[in-house]
Amino acid sequence: MPLTDNQLDRYARHIILKEIGGGGQIALLDATVAVIGAGGIGSPAIQYLAAAGVGRLRLIDDDIVSLSNLQRQTLFATADIGRLKVEVAAERVAAMNPDVTVEAIAKRIDATNAADLLTGANLVLDGCDNFGTRLIVADTARALHIPLVSAAVGQFDGQLATWRGWEPTSPCYRCLVGGDPDRPDISCADQGVLGALTGVMGSLAAMEAIRAITGFGDDPAGQLLLIDALAFRTRTIRVPKDPGCGCAG
Ligand SMILES: [Zn+2]
Repeated sequence: MPLTDNQLDRYARHIILKEIGGGGQIALLDATVAVIGAGGIGSPAIQYLAAAGVGRLRLIDDDIVSLSNLQRQTLFATADIGRLKVEVAAERVAAMNPDVTVEAIAKRIDATNAADLLTGANLVLDGCDNFGTRLIVADTARALHIPLVSAAVGQFDGQLATWRGWEPTSPCYRCLVGGDPDRPDISCADQGVLGALTGVMGSLAAMEAIRAITGFGDDPAGQLLLIDALAFRTRTIRVPKDPGCGCAG
C-alpha cells in the first residue's frame, strides 16, 4: 500500500531521514509489535510506537490503573484509576493515531499462553515488572524467532538490550541472566523507582523497536546498555553467547 498524503505529512520527519525513508515507514505501518506491560516502561514505548505509525500494537497487561502508578505511567490520568490499563491505552492510541490498530489483551502472560500471545508479532517489546515473566517472554520470543527488545529498571538503574538468540552467534537473554526462574525480584513497590528513568527506558525500547523494524544504523543485538542515573553515566557491554546455554545448539 502506498502512503497517503496524510501519512506523508504525519510521518514526514521519519520519511525524510534517509536511514528510514518511505520504505521504513511502510515497514512500520505493516508491523505488529507485542508490548508486554503497559506500565512505566510500556507507557512511553506505546506512545512512541503509536506516534511512529506501527500498524498493530498488541498490548498485554492484566493490571488496573492505581494512584501510585501515576508518578511514572504517563499514559494514564487520575480519572483512569480503577480501569484496565490496556483499555485506557487503546483509547489513548486511538486518539493519537488512527493508523494504529490496538489489540488490548487483559491477560497476564505466562508459560501456558505465551506462544499464542506472541505468535504473529514481528517484534516483542518487554517492559514487564518481574523476572519470571521476563524469562518466559524471552524463551518464547527465541523459540518463535521474534526479535526481543527488553527494557528493565531498578531504583536508579536501567538496562536495555535486543535479543535474537536463535542466531548462531547472537546471545539470548538467558546467556546474560542464567536460568533460575526463582531469582528474587527487586520490586519497585518495595524499593521505589525514579519515574523519569522508566520514561527514558521505555523511550529507548521504542527506539530499538523502530530500529529493528526499519533497520536503521548499527545492529545492537547482543549488547547491553546500562544506565546509572545516580552517577550520570551510561555504558554498553557485549554479552557473549554462553556455550552452556540452551540457545547454543
Ligand atoms: Zn543463550
